[in-house]
Amino acid sequence: MAIRIGIVGYGNLGRGVECAVRQNADMTLAAVLTRRDPKQMTILTEGVPVVRQDDWADYADAIDVMILCGGSATDLPTMTPAFAAHFNVVDSFDTHAKIPEHFAAVDAAARAGSHVALISAGWDPGLFSLNRVYASSILPEGKHYTFWGKGVSQGHSDAIRRIDGVKDARQYTIPVEAALAAARSGDNPELTTRQMHTRECFVVAEDGVDEAGRQAIEDAIVTMPNYFADYDTTVHFITEEELQRDHSGIPHGGFVIRSGKTGWEAENTAVVEYGLTLDSNPEFTAGVLAACARAVHRFAQDGSVGCKSMLDVPPAYLSPLDPQTLRARML
Ligand code: NDP
Repeated sequence: MAIRIGIVGYGNLGRGVECAVRQNADMTLAAVLTRRDPKQMTILTEGVPVVRQDDWADYADAIDVMILCGGSATDLPTMTPAFAAHFNVVDSFDTHAKIPEHFAAVDAAARAGSHVALISAGWDPGLFSLNRVYASSILPEGKHYTFWGKGVSQGHSDAIRRIDGVKDARQYTIPVEAALAAARSGDNPELTTRQMHTRECFVVAEDGVDEAGRQAIEDAIVTMPNYFADYDTTVHFITEEELQRDHSGIPHGGFVIRSGKTGWEAENTAVVEYGLTLDSNPEFTAGVLAACARAVHRFAQDGSVGCKSMLDVPPAYLSPLDPQTLRARML
């Protein structure tokens, strides 16, 4: 029987999960849950119920895995433990510093409800984390480097939108080519935050903002602590039409590089690199969440309970293929 997937929260990621389920023959979409008025919402799949999130109990027996697509900042810290008490769940929680705290809360809820949860699935955290673990386990003497982009950072774009006089904005994080080359060289250089990435901002000013107002917006951006102050940041003012035409996509990507030494005297160099180039960050992330939902379903069938991250998932659990076929085709 196909794995019955529920989606909680229908934003970019929620819609991406809907697309991912369509590409996985062993999955079926059972329901979409939302905090908005379901009558005002249309989804891509015909015949699938869109229901109020508060009515989750009606679906307790109809869903094998809930994929939680709320935002990391304020939704998932409460949403994931709440749902893990009643369903097997997957989330994409990406506030790295708070993952241990989130894990503990979800683990307690999932154990109390005898369910399986998998948190922080995606690419970073997620696939990049796996590659950091693989490469640093294999090359204990070495350094790792994570580069993000070129891609849109939603958090940084939101931070710009909160500045007075800004109507809309899009922020790109861009890896510095020279830093990438240095990381790939095998020389294990020390690279500062400023050396590794630049930030490029496209800003639509409110009507009536003059030259001095634009300068004030630019100053507010480039000096903003935690977001821009530690980076070389460029700001371009553009029209609303230009923003829609040229910057409406959500591309992203990046590279995880481990540069290490092998040999008795550590005389040889080994460089491991994993890279992603994504037209759509949420659609790709959703693909990871769908594969993780399959793994969660298998853990549940095995009788596991509690919280896991992608570091705890055997690769074979992610695949629709059985272990014998995997050994024949993928090893
Ligand atoms: P969105 O802002 O598009 O959606 C978040 C929630 O907001 C939705 O679940 C939805 O809930 C609500 N929402 C969406 N659109 C509207 C709207 N028009 N009006 C009102 N509410 C709306 O966020 P994303 O889907 O882009 O991203 C979700 C999270 O995924 C991010 O916070 C990020 O942390 C994480 N992520 C993780 C990655 C990783 O590698 N681990 C990579 C990419 C993202 P509802 O339907 O209930 O209203």
